[in-house]
Amino acid sequence: MQLVTRKQLGWPASAAPTQASARGVKVHYTGSAVSTALLKDHQRCIDLWRDIRVAHLANVAEGYSDVAYNYAACVHGYVLEGRGVGRRTGANGSQPLNKAHYAVLGLIGSSGLTEPTDELLGAIRDAIEHLQEHGAGKEIKGHKDGYATSCPGGPLYAWVQQGAPWPGGTKPTTSTPSRPVVDLSKLIAARRADPPKSGTPVSYSGVKTVEAALVAEGLLSKSLADGHFGTATVTAYAAWQRRCGWSGDDADGTPGIASLTKLGKRRGFDVKE
Ligand SMILES: [Zn+2]
Ligand SMILES: [Zn+2]
Repeated sequence: MQLVTRKQLGWPASAAPTQASARGVKVHYTGSAVSTALLKDHQRCIDLWRDIRVAHLANVAEGYSDVAYNYAACVHGYVLEGRGVGRRTGANGSQPLNKAHYAVLGLIGSSGLTEPTDELLGAIRDAIEHLQEHGAGKEIKGHKDGYATSCPGGPLYAWVQQGAPWPGGTKPTTSTPSRPVVDLSKLIAARRADPPKSGTPVSYSGVKTVEAALVAEGLLSKSLADGHFGTATVTAYAAWQRRCGWSGDDADGTPGIASLTKLGKRRGFDVKE
């Protein structure tokens, strides 16, 4: 779950009443116009979520203590924290309805941006499962179930009625991206072959990984990180070797196991000899 916390939003702890469990979760939409500009700009999602909280806090008739929803979900797949877990929602229409279900808002509306993206559906599903791990029962319903409203709109309600499935059918596995592996012998071969053959095709893709690390170290200009172990890369690598404490022939720009391993440790790649 890609969560944006209240802390990250700069909000204080929720003042909403605590509630440890509920029968399930209800899905909502904003019920108003939402700009399609959100699709290209996640900051607008954050701004909209802030605006919704401000509007709720200003709503004297409802007397809200906080944004009414437990979570919101945006078209980019982020879950935005509202009241969070263990708090009663104020969004379902009446006190008995609020006690029965927690509430998740899909950040789409009744005009403009009306179609949920797969990322949005996945984020709502993330928020629902998170609430289920913290006291919510299995029920997944729409705001309109038991209350006279169009919320959560046609597309979201159709999805809710199917059981709010993961887009694609199964929960995406959260795999930690594997670290790149640089083969030292291939790298040395590239260092030997590339400089005299400037303009020739890149001989080993691992050169790019090393160049990116040298750029990150401030030793190579980004424009020269072209995957080609040419003169600029040799010079930059020699500077890295000197930084590691070598000098003379030991800092000739040809990678060795010690200097390369050290660079990989700092910049996120592994080395194979
Ligand atoms: Zn609603
Ligand atoms: Zn977004």
